[in-house]
Amino acid sequence: MRFSGWRVLREGLTGNRGWQGHWRDPDPKPEYDAVIIGGGGHGLATAYYLARDHGMTNIAVLERGYIGGGNVGRNTTIVRANYYLPGNSEFYSHSLKLWEGLEQDLNYNAMMSQRGILNVFHNDAQRDSAVRRANAIINQGDDAEILSRDQLREMAPLLNYDNNRFPIQGALLQRRAGTARHDAVAWGFARGADQRGVDILQNCEVTSIRTEGGKVIGVETTRGLIRAGKVAMAAAGRSSQVAAMAGLTLPIESHVLQAFVSEGLKPIIDHVITFAEGHLYISQSDKGGLVFGSYLDLYTSYAARGNLPMVEHTMEACMAMLPAIGKARLLRSWGGIMDMTPDGSPIIDRTSIVGLYLNAGWCYGGFKATPASGQCYAHLIATDRPHEAAAAFRLERFETGHGLMDEEATGAQHNLH
Ligand SMILES: Cc1cc2nc3c(=O)[nH]c(=O)nc-3n(C[C@H](O)[C@H](O)[C@H](O)COP(=O)(O)OP(=O)(O)OC[C@H]3O[C@@H](n4cnc5c(N)ncnc54)[C@H](O)[C@@H]3O)c2cc1C
Repeated sequence: MRFSGWRVLREGLTGNRGWQGHWRDPDPKPEYDAVIIGGGGHGLATAYYLARDHGMTNIAVLERGYIGGGNVGRNTTIVRANYYLPGNSEFYSHSLKLWEGLEQDLNYNAMMSQRGILNVFHNDAQRDSAVRRANAIINQGDDAEILSRDQLREMAPLLNYDNNRFPIQGALLQRRAGTARHDAVAWGFARGADQRGVDILQNCEVTSIRTEGGKVIGVETTRGLIRAGKVAMAAAGRSSQVAAMAGLTLPIESHVLQAFVSEGLKPIIDHVITFAEGHLYISQSDKGGLVFGSYLDLYTSYAARGNLPMVEHTMEACMAMLPAIGKARLLRSWGGIMDMTPDGSPIIDRTSIVGLYLNAGWCYGGFKATPASGQCYAHLIATDRPHEAAAAFRLERFETGHGLMDEEATGAQHNLH
């Protein structure tokens, strides 16, 4: 079934009786060429690109819950390509280009909205750093502009420009950045993969990874043993637990990150806005809710919910940066489990076990990576060679210390990335 304006019109006139399910609900086969552990954005995108780019269709995505129930459906939906360091920079640049054609490619409305991101700075040091970042982004071939305080005020008049502690000096703007409807991205990739023959198996938790003579041979699941010569981990916040099933210890800690949504309001914020002080990021959804978040909860956990101190901190940051928000009521909040690496950059690599692959360490920035991560991981799984856009995401950098990409320059402390 293809979606189009004509189709919407026809269904509207005929009682909406022609819509079909977006993907099948098959029983697991005893054996596949490859299985992917984790039906989040990255796992589903990987399946889609394995089928589309490499013709691998005898594959399955194994999801312990329902697809879209993990971080892919819990994030604050920000998509951008404003990274600074080589390695990250070309990867996220590649990802944004994929985002720009994704809806046409998937024939699915992911509500991609290139409304621009404003990274607000408050002092001279932050302005210098923003200028350096803008130069790096432009050198990479993407767009970046530095806005003065007056230019910023025209675009975002409701900000607190004269806060005593955090006066606003200006902002780094990337116009091509924006937001996408997070769970629609999971559904779009799921539908695209299913159409190409991929089995999406929900309520199918992997409980152990089977190996023989240093090679992977399959996985035990709550729906039985599934054999596969290639097993690809894409379990995000649970990556360490899944890798431990094969006896591997990852350089990853799992931390909670919360998100918040206000009641629906008339449009008051046209862009995504992030603040360098207080580490707050905020945008307004198409339904009118203000969508925002700030720091990690600062303790390790596998619980997909957060605690009150970070709720208070986030609300205080909101009041300092955008006092008008004090009139809005908070509607919902939730948490997700972040797979934090010591340098804040991800891993797409083979492991020491033949046929076992790792995609993890997305920290709190993996949503924007979804299409490129899937495409690069699929390339690695199909060819056993890294994709050129993800060539720097090697696991061994944490063992050797070479090639670390400490984007935030905070040192090897997981919770600070
Ligand atoms: C509050 C919050 C805000 C965020 N904001 C942004 C943002 O604005 N921009 C951005 O780029 N990123 C953001 N992120 C980060 C981003 O959401 C994640 O980095 C990304 O979604 C992780 O990849 P994923 O989609 O594959 O993860 P997930 O959706 O979590 O997928 C992993 C899947 O693996 C499954 N799984 C785990 N163990 C097993 C098992 N044993 N067997 C089978 N399945 C298993 C899980 O159930 C889960 O569905 C945010 C995250 C959170 C929580």
